[in-house]
Amino acid sequence: MGWDLGDGVHEGWATCVSADGRLSHGSSSVGVMVEGITGAYPVHHLVPTWEVVPYAEVIGWRGGCACGWQGQLWERVPALELAEVGARRVYDARGDVPERVEEDIEAEWARHTEPAQAISAVAAAVGAARAATRDLDEAVAAESATVPDGYGKKATAGPWPSPQTSQRTHRSTATVTR
Ligand SMILES: [Zn+2]
Repeated sequence: MGWDLGDGVHEGWATCVSADGRLSHGSSSVGVMVEGITGAYPVHHLVPTWEVVPYAEVIGWRGGCACGWQGQLWERVPALELAEVGARRVYDARGDVPERVEEDIEAEWARHTEPAQAISAVAAAVGAARAATRDLDEAVAAESATVPDGYGKKATAGPWPSPQTSQRTHRSTATVTR
Protein backbone atom coordinates (compact mmCIF):
# COMPACT_ATOMS: atom_id res chain seq x y z
CA MET A 1 0.00 0.00 0.00
CA GLY A 2 1.28 3.47 -0.82
CA TRP A 3 0.47 7.16 -0.87
CA ASP A 4 0.45 9.30 -3.98
CA LEU A 5 0.65 13.09 -4.03
CA GLY A 6 -0.61 12.99 -7.62
CA ASP A 7 2.20 15.17 -8.99
CA GLY A 8 4.06 12.33 -10.69
CA VAL A 9 7.02 12.86 -8.33
CA HIS A 10 6.07 11.86 -4.81
CA GLU A 11 4.72 8.37 -4.43
CA GLY A 12 5.55 6.90 -1.06
CA TRP A 13 5.29 3.60 0.74
CA ALA A 14 6.41 1.87 3.91
CA THR A 15 9.21 -0.63 3.34
CA CYS A 16 10.88 -3.44 5.22
CA VAL A 17 14.66 -3.08 5.53
CA SER A 18 16.77 -6.17 4.97
CA ALA A 19 19.90 -6.94 7.01
CA ASP A 20 22.05 -5.62 4.14
CA GLY A 21 20.14 -2.33 4.05
CA ARG A 22 17.94 -2.89 1.00
CA LEU A 23 14.34 -1.66 1.00
CA SER A 24 11.52 -4.00 0.11
CA HIS A 25 9.31 -3.73 -2.99
CA GLY A 26 6.61 -5.82 -1.39
CA SER A 27 6.05 -8.81 0.76
CA SER A 28 4.75 -12.34 0.47
CA SER A 29 4.06 -15.23 2.82
CA VAL A 30 7.74 -16.22 2.90
CA GLY A 31 9.48 -12.87 3.07
CA VAL A 32 10.05 -9.47 1.49
CA MET A 33 11.20 -8.74 -2.06
CA VAL A 34 14.33 -6.61 -2.53
CA GLU A 35 16.06 -5.38 -5.67
CA GLY A 36 19.41 -6.93 -6.65
CA ILE A 37 21.01 -10.35 -6.62
CA THR A 38 23.62 -11.01 -3.94
CA GLY A 39 23.33 -14.79 -3.88
CA ALA A 40 22.53 -14.70 -0.18
CA TYR A 41 18.78 -15.18 -0.71
CA PRO A 42 16.51 -17.09 -3.08
CA VAL A 43 15.61 -15.30 -6.34
CA HIS A 44 11.97 -14.22 -6.71
CA HIS A 45 10.02 -16.66 -8.87
CA LEU A 46 8.59 -13.94 -11.14
CA VAL A 47 11.15 -11.12 -11.06
CA PRO A 48 14.67 -12.42 -11.76
CA THR A 49 16.32 -9.24 -10.42
CA TRP A 50 14.69 -9.55 -6.98
CA GLU A 51 15.63 -11.64 -3.99
CA VAL A 52 13.29 -12.80 -1.26
CA VAL A 53 14.59 -11.99 2.22
CA PRO A 54 12.95 -14.03 4.99
CA TYR A 55 11.03 -12.08 7.65
CA ALA A 56 13.55 -13.23 10.27
CA GLU A 57 16.17 -11.06 8.54
CA VAL A 58 14.09 -7.89 8.42
CA ILE A 59 15.97 -5.46 10.68
CA GLY A 60 13.43 -2.64 10.59
CA TRP A 61 11.20 -0.41 8.50
CA ARG A 62 11.41 2.97 6.84
CA GLY A 63 9.51 5.17 4.41
CA GLY A 64 10.50 5.43 0.79
CA CYS A 65 9.41 7.78 -1.99
CA ALA A 66 9.73 7.71 -5.77
CA CYS A 67 11.60 11.05 -5.51
CA GLY A 68 14.44 9.30 -3.67
CA TRP A 69 13.51 10.40 -0.16
CA GLN A 70 13.91 7.87 2.64
CA GLY A 71 12.41 8.15 6.10
CA GLN A 72 14.16 7.46 9.38
CA LEU A 73 14.78 3.86 10.36
CA TRP A 74 12.41 2.13 12.73
CA GLU A 75 14.55 -0.51 14.36
CA ARG A 76 13.09 -3.97 14.88
CA VAL A 77 14.15 -5.20 18.31
CA PRO A 78 14.30 -8.94 19.12
CA ALA A 79 12.24 -8.76 22.33
CA LEU A 80 9.25 -6.81 23.61
CA GLU A 81 11.14 -5.49 26.69
CA LEU A 82 13.66 -3.77 24.37
CA ALA A 83 10.95 -1.87 22.53
CA GLU A 84 10.55 1.89 22.88
CA VAL A 85 8.19 3.35 20.32
CA GLY A 86 9.27 6.96 21.04
CA ALA A 87 12.83 6.00 20.10
CA ARG A 88 11.65 4.12 16.99
CA ARG A 89 12.43 0.71 18.49
CA VAL A 90 9.60 -1.71 17.88
CA TYR A 91 9.10 -5.39 18.57
CA ASP A 92 7.18 -7.30 15.91
CA ALA A 93 7.19 -11.07 15.79
CA ARG A 94 6.15 -11.28 12.15
CA GLY A 95 8.49 -8.81 10.48
CA ASP A 96 6.17 -7.10 8.01
CA VAL A 97 5.56 -3.36 8.57
CA PRO A 98 3.52 -3.05 11.79
CA GLU A 99 0.32 -0.99 11.41
CA ARG A 100 1.41 1.54 14.06
CA VAL A 101 4.76 2.06 12.32
CA GLU A 102 3.10 2.38 8.93
CA GLU A 103 0.87 5.19 10.24
CA ASP A 104 3.91 7.09 11.54
CA ILE A 105 5.82 6.53 8.31
CA GLU A 106 2.85 7.87 6.33
CA ALA A 107 2.80 11.03 8.50
CA GLU A 108 6.56 11.44 8.04
CA TRP A 109 6.19 10.96 4.28
CA ALA A 110 3.37 13.54 4.18
CA ARG A 111 5.60 16.07 6.00
CA HIS A 112 8.38 15.63 3.42
CA THR A 113 5.87 16.49 0.64
CA GLU A 114 4.75 19.76 2.31
CA PRO A 115 7.27 21.99 0.44
CA ALA A 116 6.07 20.45 -2.84
CA GLN A 117 2.44 21.08 -1.84
CA ALA A 118 3.25 24.70 -0.91
CA ILE A 119 4.93 25.21 -4.27
CA SER A 120 1.89 23.85 -6.13
CA ALA A 121 -0.36 26.14 -4.05
CA VAL A 122 1.76 29.17 -4.99
CA ALA A 123 1.80 28.08 -8.64
CA ALA A 124 -2.00 27.76 -8.58
CA ALA A 125 -2.37 31.23 -7.02
CA VAL A 126 -0.03 32.78 -9.60
CA GLY A 127 -2.03 31.09 -12.37
CA ALA A 128 -5.30 32.42 -10.94
CA ALA A 129 -3.86 35.95 -10.63
CA ARG A 130 -2.65 35.86 -14.24
CA ALA A 131 -6.05 34.65 -15.44
CA ALA A 132 -7.77 37.46 -13.48
CA THR A 133 -5.45 40.09 -14.99
CA ARG A 134 -6.13 38.71 -18.46
CA ASP A 135 -9.92 38.80 -17.84
CA LEU A 136 -9.67 42.40 -16.63
CA ASP A 137 -7.61 43.46 -19.66
CA GLU A 138 -10.13 41.82 -21.96
CA ALA A 139 -13.07 43.47 -20.18
CA VAL A 140 -11.41 46.91 -20.38
CA ALA A 141 -10.59 46.38 -24.05
CA ALA A 142 -14.18 45.30 -24.78
CA GLU A 143 -15.61 48.34 -22.95
CA SER A 144 -13.28 50.81 -24.72
CA ALA A 145 -14.39 49.33 -28.02
CA THR A 146 -18.08 50.10 -27.30
CA VAL A 147 -17.58 53.69 -26.00
CA PRO A 148 -17.55 56.24 -28.90
CA ASP A 149 -14.60 58.66 -29.20
CA GLY A 150 -15.12 61.93 -27.39
CA TYR A 151 -17.71 60.66 -24.92
CA GLY A 152 -14.99 59.26 -22.68
CA LYS A 153 -13.17 62.62 -22.54
CA LYS A 154 -16.31 64.54 -21.58
CA ALA A 155 -17.16 62.04 -18.90
CA THR A 156 -13.67 62.38 -17.38
CA ALA A 157 -14.13 66.17 -16.99
CA GLY A 158 -17.45 65.54 -15.22
CA PRO A 159 -20.91 66.90 -16.08
CA TRP A 160 -21.40 68.16 -12.50
CA PRO A 161 -20.15 71.46 -11.03
CA SER A 162 -17.02 71.33 -8.87
CA PRO A 163 -17.55 71.30 -5.05
CA GLN A 164 -16.54 75.01 -4.84
CA THR A 165 -19.18 76.11 -7.38
CA SER A 166 -21.76 74.04 -5.57
CA GLN A 167 -21.00 75.72 -2.22
CA ARG A 168 -21.29 79.21 -3.71
CA THR A 169 -24.61 78.39 -5.31
CA HIS A 170 -25.94 77.12 -2.00
CA ARG A 171 -24.89 80.28 -0.12
CA SER A 172 -26.47 82.64 -2.63
CA THR A 173 -29.71 80.65 -2.49
CA ALA A 174 -29.78 81.06 1.30
CA THR A 175 -29.31 84.85 0.98
CA VAL A 176 -32.29 85.12 -1.36
CA THR A 177 -34.71 83.25 0.93
CA ARG A 178 -33.86 85.35 4.05
ZN1 LIG B 1 9.01 12.37 -2.31
